[in-house]
Parts: sequence; C-alpha cells; structure tokens
Amino acid sequence: MKSIRWLLLLCSLAGQAAPSVRVALIKTADAETRGMLAVAGGSWDKLPLVYTAVLVSHPQGELLFDAGLGTQVDAQVEADMPWWTGPFLRYQHPCPAVRQLAGRKIPRIILSHAHWDHVSGLVDFPDSEVWVTSAERQFIASGTPPTIFPSQVHTPPIKWREYSFAPQAWLGYQQSLDLFGDGSAVLVPMAGHTPGSVGLFTRLASGRSLFFVGDTIWTTQALDGAREKSWFARQLADNDRDATASQIRQLAQIASEMPQLQIVPAHDAAVQDKLGYYPNWVDEPPSKQPSLCPKAIP
Ligand SMILES: [Zn+2]
Repeated sequence: MKSIRWLLLLCSLAGQAAPSVRVALIKTADAETRGMLAVAGGSWDKLPLVYTAVLVSHPQGELLFDAGLGTQVDAQVEADMPWWTGPFLRYQHPCPAVRQLAGRKIPRIILSHAHWDHVSGLVDFPDSEVWVTSAERQFIASGTPPTIFPSQVHTPPIKWREYSFAPQAWLGYQQSLDLFGDGSAVLVPMAGHTPGSVGLFTRLASGRSLFFVGDTIWTTQALDGAREKSWFARQLADNDRDATASQIRQLAQIASEMPQLQIVPAHDAAVQDKLGYYPNWVDEPPSKQPSLCPKAIP
C-alpha cells in the first residue's frame, strides 16, 4: 500500500488528479423510524431512513455496493419476515435498482453484509458475481429470519464469490482490499453487525472521500459519543454486540481525526439526501437523464 500512498502524493505534487471513482446512490425505498430506536440516547423524533444500493464506476468496471430492495421484495417479506419484526422493518416507495439502472451492466455486487434489506435485489442481477467474505458466506448458510431470508439467498441461483483481505493497513484498519489497485475504492473488514460486515472507502474526483459503513451505525448521530444502537435494535440486528461497539468507537475516532471524510451509514437519509440520488452522481452536475422512480427520489 506504500506504493499507492506514494502514487497519490506524486499525483498531488504534479498537480494531477488522484485516481478516483464516480459514485451514485440508488435509493430503492425509504422508511421512517424513531431516533431512540436507531441510536442509544436518541430522541423520540422521526428519523427518515433509506434503502440504498451504491453504484461505483471506475474505468476498469462498475459495481454495486449492496443491492437494496429488489423487484421481489414483497414476496420475500411475505415468505420470510417474522410477524413480530414486520412492524419495525416497513418500507415505502420501493423502486428496485435494476429498474433504475435500465439495462446497465453490473458485473459485480459487493455486500456490506447479507441482511435482507441489502440482498433483496440480488435476484434481479442473476449474471452478477456477488462478493462476500467467507465469514459472511457461513453466516448466510446458517442464518435464519429476520436476519437472513432463505427466499433471497437460497432459492435463486446466485454466483457467490468469496474474497479475502490483504494484510495491508488502510486508514486505521489492519486489513484491506484495494478493488482497482489505485486506492480509489478500498474495502475494509468491519465484523460485528454481522460476522463478515465490510466498509468501503471511495475517493471522488472532487477530492471528497466517502466511507460507506453498512449498518455498523444507522445514523451518524451515533458518532457523537460512539453510541451503540438502542437495546431493542441491538437484539434485533447486531450479531456481536462487543465487536459492533468496538467498530463504532473506531468510526468515531476516524470521524474526529478526519472531519473531511464523509461517513455514510447505509440507511441514513439525512446524509444521503445531501449527496443526492441516481441518476445524479455525487459531486457532479445534475444528470439530464430523467429519474425512473419519481416517488422514490425527492
Ligand atoms: Zn444490517
């Protein structure tokens, strides 16, 4: 990784743009909860949520980070959502990524983790390789509702591909995987919320860096004091409480040391609304392409 740091330094010294990717947030549905459910010590105020697939575009290829809610979500929920969690996990205005992408080729989908609301759309991309760590693959194999939905990951044919991290430190994480070999998109392990949860650093041409942290936190409010989710949400969603708390402390430290880094929780509508949604790209002029899901996109 030293060579990449040197490359970035040389690029900046030469006045050239550092390697970058384009990023677009594909909002596949929205929802609402209460702050006090999402984060310990949160308020009773309504907290808007989103279900997002992240489109990452690089000259070497495009990928999705998570698949969001897909075309079969209603049937998947009908088949596998337990009655007692349904009221807490509602969604509205579903608009699957495959519909919005309108035929765009997606060779690779990398999961932040395999919870139902991140993998629902996999069925819509049967030709895509779906990248998970071996720990997450085992979690999928043994998991049950409400965390893992068999109708999403066992019934349809999915081209799973397991990957490993390299022993290369990246911004405080001991291991990483540089997806394009130039530091523009780098995965790091974030085990806790699930055994194989991962985060994704991306560097944009604007110079801004975004850190997609999956469901380690549900709102950036959690970074203030490194707060865990509420008691109920932890029981419902976090696989390993201590490991998740450790990840949150590390995130809070990164946030304090790198205020220019935008941390993006997978469901944080307050953060993602500001970044904008597909067909717009983050930090780029508005797209002339019309939105195919006017209800889902403000
Ligand atoms: Zn989750």
